[in-house]
Amino acid sequence: MPSQSLPDVRPVAAWPGVIEHYRARIHIAHTVPPVTLLEGNTPLIPAPRLASALGGGFELYLKYEAANPTGSFKDRGMTTAMTQAVADGAQAVICASTGNTAASAAAYAARAGLKCVVLVPDGKIAAGKLAGALSYGAQVIAIAGNFDDGLRMVRQASERAPIALVNSINPARLQGQKTAAFEICDVLGDAPDWLCLPVGNAGNITSYWLGFGEYFDDGLASIRPRLLGAQAAGAAPIVLGRIVEHPETIATAIRIGNPARWREATTALDESGGRITAVSDEEILSAYRLVARTEGVFCEPSSAAGLAGLAKGLREGWLDVRRQRVVCVLTGHGLKDPEAAIKGNAPPITIEPRIEALLEAIG
Ligand SMILES: *Cc1c(COP(=O)(O)O)cnc(C)c1O
Repeated sequence: MPSQSLPDVRPVAAWPGVIEHYRARIHIAHTVPPVTLLEGNTPLIPAPRLASALGGGFELYLKYEAANPTGSFKDRGMTTAMTQAVADGAQAVICASTGNTAASAAAYAARAGLKCVVLVPDGKIAAGKLAGALSYGAQVIAIAGNFDDGLRMVRQASERAPIALVNSINPARLQGQKTAAFEICDVLGDAPDWLCLPVGNAGNITSYWLGFGEYFDDGLASIRPRLLGAQAAGAAPIVLGRIVEHPETIATAIRIGNPARWREATTALDESGGRITAVSDEEILSAYRLVARTEGVFCEPSSAAGLAGLAKGLREGWLDVRRQRVVCVLTGHGLKDPEAAIKGNAPPITIEPRIEALLEAIG
């Protein structure tokens, strides 16, 4: 068969998931086949229109973690945590969650054939996350408390019962989550100057710092980025330097008053020469709308906190990114929280089914 007759397509190697792709760097038990949904390899989207809207003069990229199988970065850590749990002979897993961990744990547990129990704060979980956790067949338990209460309870449960804890206090989670830093360096050819991201329980900022550090130490990156962490103003324990007993914010994924990886986050921020800032719900929602409208990239409100922090630093003048490369991590998908999206916009208008009415409506 003459090769000229073949369509003009480029062969693409199948992506095997983060454990297989970065196998030598992933420090978990490799004694069982990875529990994977082929997570990772998410787009690093150039965002020139958004950069202009923020004043311009720098290179901006969006690490779109919504493109993971269950719609958030949590899948990176769940493939490693679940694989380790299987290697350890676990029959069941448990976690506390603001929503995305629940959905991810439920999916990976289904994949592994394990029982999954998730604790979520009653009424404070976005619809798409609950929908996921339920659909993947987890036992979902709502507690009349917040994430911090849930985390305390699942820690105790995992000590008393034969059930593996898959929250980010589980070190296997970080092994998977650090791969997002590798991917950014692999695409850019080096680490960026700044990495901006939301901070909740602080597992992700800890993981990124670990990943960038490993690439830097091994000569695969010439620099390490400065980290810009963003907490919601009503849930900003690291910014305030004290536990927040009753965290409140519309950014439910980061509604956490006592982060499990607080100390590691502080170390990462200090070592990177970075900064952590508090952003109001209004600033978060404004960044959330801006990225969708300027770039066609839809993330959940919490995910836009890092971007809101960047916008705030530029506006207030304490951040100078001129001629630098900045990556904002968008941690989860906009469709996770349809209510926030619909509430934040004018509702569609209704017209008569006549062409005149349509032409009038579109001006
Ligand atoms: C979990 C989560 C966060 C916070 O990550 P931490 O590791 O807890 O700091 C931010 N955004 C989204 C969408 C999340 O699901």
